[in-house]
Amino acid sequence: MKLIIHRGTKQIGGCVTEIEHNGYKVFIDYGEQLPGTITSDLPLIEGLTCGDISRSALFISHYHGDHIGKICDVPHDIPIYIGKTACEIYRCLEQRLTYIQDLTERNKHKKIVERINTFKTFTPLEKIKIGKITITPLMIDHSAFDAYMFIIEAEGTRLLHTGDFRGHGFRGSKLNKMLQKYASNINYIISEGTNVSRSNVAMQTERELQQDFENQFKQNKYNFVLVSSTNIDRIFSLYHAAKRAGRSFVCDNYQAEILKIVSKNHKRYTPFYDINYAQTENYAGRFFTLKKGIHSNSFLFSENFKNFLMKHGFCMLIRATEAFKPILAEYNAKIYYSMWNGYLDNQKQAYNPILHDFLSSYEIDYMHTSGHADTPTLRTVFKTVKPIGGIIPIHTEAPEKFQRLFGEIAPVITLYDGESFNCKLI
Ligand SMILES: [Zn+2]
Ligand SMILES: [Zn+2]
Repeated sequence: MKLIIHRGTKQIGGCVTEIEHNGYKVFIDYGEQLPGTITSDLPLIEGLTCGDISRSALFISHYHGDHIGKICDVPHDIPIYIGKTACEIYRCLEQRLTYIQDLTERNKHKKIVERINTFKTFTPLEKIKIGKITITPLMIDHSAFDAYMFIIEAEGTRLLHTGDFRGHGFRGSKLNKMLQKYASNINYIISEGTNVSRSNVAMQTERELQQDFENQFKQNKYNFVLVSSTNIDRIFSLYHAAKRAGRSFVCDNYQAEILKIVSKNHKRYTPFYDINYAQTENYAGRFFTLKKGIHSNSFLFSENFKNFLMKHGFCMLIRATEAFKPILAEYNAKIYYSMWNGYLDNQKQAYNPILHDFLSSYEIDYMHTSGHADTPTLRTVFKTVKPIGGIIPIHTEAPEKFQRLFGEIAPVITLYDGESFNCKLI
């Protein structure tokens, strides 16, 4: 079995991994580089973007742009696999972008939607065979919903590719039990290390963050939150925090559509994803969707609706667009910024000046926790999996730190982009 990380050995976004066995090729993720990254054009990849593609398949760990963004560069004949709910959410997101003004952008997103319509979907633990390679998806916790690690095995060699994951989300406590059960006899783990360069301390859990939001919502009547529309667990958490604080929950049509996908597919597993979208009599946690008027870019607010919000207070999800400015001006409340703060830091490559300018006229409270594993979690995972062959860093700016942090658990193998590594059975 041969492994090539075409991109991602020394950077966070745009990872592409290839695993080849007997002429068959499994690729994991094919995304855009993070905004602001000095772009290094990927050379053509045999079996993915050129040459014989008849024995190839692409697996997407989750729908973040740095893992899925380049799917339109992949020929139509290569099957693309993704989780079922992830596929529906990503389609909803991309479909919305087909309505934007800019014609080039609109056409780009139309093409993406067409490609999504050809996706093959899988469910957790469903084994998929590509030649003699077997791929088993393990569902994990990340700031994208329905995200996966993959076990890739052929003739006795077993690799675990972690995708992006964390241990401090709502499902984080199940991580080690799942690895003990399914990720035994792993030869090599290809592991993300986003936070290895950021900090060495344990992250605040999603549960603790939810409690903080609940406390804020109890103290403050009007609450605006800026959060990624596909950070599903965070949004359901905000809904429950609002409900417990006795506030209504308000979001736009598009956001409601995404939440309904998750409720439809997952509320049977846990009441966490169960929202009563019908307008109930009980005001606590009452769910409202904002609608725009015909030919209008602003939201409709009836007197009844306004009175209701005035009386009971709300948690409203906003976006950095003109449409939300009148509401923000009317209530003059602070905005909880619930995304990575690097987008607002002009020292960071991913700095987003539009977002920064939008927020500059409001009072901001930063309330967020990372979608990626902290160092203690990575250590626990490596100790649990015990990869005999070694740990191969990916999706990190500091692969060299792996040796110092985890070298006593297993050998650390740092590769170069494009380097071919023979995964020998050890
Ligand atoms: Zn991600
Ligand atoms: Zn990522």
